[in-house]
Amino acid sequence: MNILSVRNLAKAFGGVRAVNNVSFDVASGEFLALIGPNGAGKSTCFNIINGQLPPDQGDVRLLDRSIVGLPPREIWRLGVGRTFQVAATFGSMTVAENIQLALVSQHGKAFRFGAALRHYHAQRALDLLRQVGMAQAAHRACKELAYGDVKRVELAIALANNPRLLLMDEPTAGMAPRERNDLIALVKRLVLENNISVLFTEHSMDVVFAHADRIIVMARGRLIADGDSAAIRDNPEVQQVYLGTGRSLRSRAAAPS
Ligand code: ADP
Ligand code: MG
Repeated sequence: MNILSVRNLAKAFGGVRAVNNVSFDVASGEFLALIGPNGAGKSTCFNIINGQLPPDQGDVRLLDRSIVGLPPREIWRLGVGRTFQVAATFGSMTVAENIQLALVSQHGKAFRFGAALRHYHAQRALDLLRQVGMAQAAHRACKELAYGDVKRVELAIALANNPRLLLMDEPTAGMAPRERNDLIALVKRLVLENNISVLFTEHSMDVVFAHADRIIVMARGRLIADGDSAAIRDNPEVQQVYLGTGRSLRSRAAAPS
């Protein structure tokens, strides 16, 4: 079953065809990587799917319901979560409070002003922090955390909404190689445990080849390949357009992560 179907999506900025007739599916429970060189149109695709940008043409279906034209908040409510490239946590609040705030905003009417935030969803917040390996930091201020730990908290915030599909545009931006691998491995484990689907972009080919179930490749607005790690690694057009030479893609694929 497909959780998401993108059909003939197109978006131009002036004369630039940022997304040019792109179609793909995300299967239920799938961990799907979208890769491609800078300017390929990856972020534009994400922004159309999450409702921030209207497409010029095409359809996006979530569980067979068209979501094109819905406001971002409504798409989020239907179960499309996302993590942000820029840290979205409130620094002066504790880690647990950040998660509780996300749970409160999901449950909306459960919140009454004047009531202390700490009384709401404390147990669920701790469960979520346990899932991302941050329970021990629950009562620390977010601003004290290392960058990689902030990313884990952001992931817990995204999970607080019980998403069916998580969109992650460069979730590991600014992280060291080892941290990148750890974060993506963590997301993959959460995907399996919670039966959610993930569409993500990631610059490290080592990380993509090690963890993605399937890989789709964009270049200059077009989708040029769709397959598993082996198929993408051996695809001549991907080798040429994406990295310039076949050799570097092969050696990266073979390198230990
Ligand atoms: P990627 O995420 O793959 O690096 P983007 O989707 O950000 O690619 O960009 C695709 C193309 O669209 C690029 O040529 C970029 O300069 C252009 N573009 C993206 N957003 C805008 C915008 N808001 N206004 C004008 N051009 C844009
Ligand atoms: Mg981008």
